[in-house]
Amino acid sequence: MSPTYYGGNRARGQTGLMIGSSVVARTRSWIVLCFGGFLGVLTIGSPAAIAADCPGHPDALGTSRTLVVDPHAHPLIGTMQYRETLPLKDHEVVLTFDDGPLPKYSNQVLQILADECIKATFFIIGEQAKANPEGVRKLVAAGHTVGTHSMNHPLTMDRMPLDKAEAQINGGIEWTSAAMTDPSKLAPFFRIPGLMRAEGVENLLISRGIQVWSADFPADDWRHVSSDRVYQLAIQRLEAKGKGILLLHDIQARTVAALPKIIRDLKARGYRIVHVVPATAEQPATPTTPVEWLLHPPTETTPIARWPAVPNFVFAQTKTLPAPSLADLNAQTAHQPLLPRKTMALANVAATLPVPGRDLFAIPEGSVEVLLSTTLSRRAATRLAMAAETPRAAKGKAGKPRAARTAHAVHGTPKHAAEADGTAPKSAAPKSTAPRPTRVASLKKRAQ
Ligand SMILES: [Zn+2]
Repeated sequence: MSPTYYGGNRARGQTGLMIGSSVVARTRSWIVLCFGGFLGVLTIGSPAAIAADCPGHPDALGTSRTLVVDPHAHPLIGTMQYRETLPLKDHEVVLTFDDGPLPKYSNQVLQILADECIKATFFIIGEQAKANPEGVRKLVAAGHTVGTHSMNHPLTMDRMPLDKAEAQINGGIEWTSAAMTDPSKLAPFFRIPGLMRAEGVENLLISRGIQVWSADFPADDWRHVSSDRVYQLAIQRLEAKGKGILLLHDIQARTVAALPKIIRDLKARGYRIVHVVPATAEQPATPTTPVEWLLHPPTETTPIARWPAVPNFVFAQTKTLPAPSLADLNAQTAHQPLLPRKTMALANVAATLPVPGRDLFAIPEGSVEVLLSTTLSRRAATRLAMAAETPRAAKGKAGKPRAARTAHAVHGTPKHAAEADGTAPKSAAPKSTAPRPTRVASLKKRAQ
């Protein structure tokens, strides 16, 4: 495949389309627009495998269903960074693996998934595909969804010139496609390296019909932690959200070691694997409602809807009822938690987040400092958001300091992460524009 496919060729084209055993050539204007001709249409997986259909593995977790998504309708997914995520039901999980293929570990991941009849989504780095094209073909042959993850995993896509970002995107697509026997099997799914999102890059991808995948939770498998820790984090974070996209890496020994245990535990806890594929004319998107693309639809997060009925006699005694505390609710171990998962999770997060600096609240609204701090916070948040990603596969781009700073991104919102990093309070140091002299004076004194 020549790079010229990507230059400016946004015209209609022909794309080989494989459905079942027949190959059909069709004009696919809406997708071809984005990929210049050979990326447009994806193979639709066979009907969802279920555990019972996993030959030789009667206890396999299996894949419960195939979810067909339209990148145009929902271009940004993953609650680590975006409002929307995949329309999963409670206890449904999507497994994603980044940075491969790297034969030593990717082949083991493939075998583990095969033994469980699990279909996952892989985000390929162009240089890895270039070095290990057979690895890409193995993914396709096994029925997994294959998206891309840039050419060489730069951790600067949030600030590089757009043409360079586009070259990164194109390089990943080009080499991953080139590795495939049938390039039409490449999914229009892209994960930004290090999750270093930027609006320009997102808009570029969206304009090309490519769905931008963040994640709902990582398992820190790129860090120097034990495989047992990876397993624990994967399960803990999944349990906190109840469903979602798990971000893993198929180039890490600890991931290989943790994966069987994660899968066994998923099965024991009643989770189900969902395989995600992009929509085509022949396989339209799975019907969904807009709220299903929110991790916790409003109805699910309205506590009153789930609270138990209060006995009538209580009303005879008092006009207003005391609000139940979280501790009270948790004490009822015989039942499911009465508050929705999100509420519980937030309670945990709130307990671990550091208290924001007091000077943060001393800034008058609309002042230059506030605007400045907001900007810096956003930048810091973006830097931190990349935490979820391993820079391993990047060519020496992965600095340890950067990895250390990203620790906060896993907990809470980017804003919190920025605050925890100390960026926002510093930038918000009051100056002469503060309208309340007494407050400023006390702050200045403290700052000395
Ligand atoms: Zn990556």
